[in-house]
Amino acid sequence: MRELNKQNLALNEDWYGDTAAIPCFACGKVFLVSKILHRKGRACPACGRTRALLARSRCLVTESCDGSDLNLVKAAGE
Ligand SMILES: [Zn+2]
Repeated sequence: MRELNKQNLALNEDWYGDTAAIPCFACGKVFLVSKILHRKGRACPACGRTRALLARSRCLVTESCDGSDLNLVKAAGE
């Protein structure tokens, strides 16, 4: 699991307000995750292998499909 750094976003990442854009590690698709719409995170819409969660002031990204969406929610303290 990794966490986006708002002060040091990569070229293919973005984060503004309640929405962040994250590239999928597996297929390269860039997808949005919203704090409001995706309370339990969102998986890559193309392959599902990357999952991201925006909660409070953190953006957590997990790059596996081992059911770690639960860990994401836990890590965000929701
Ligand atoms: Zn993907």
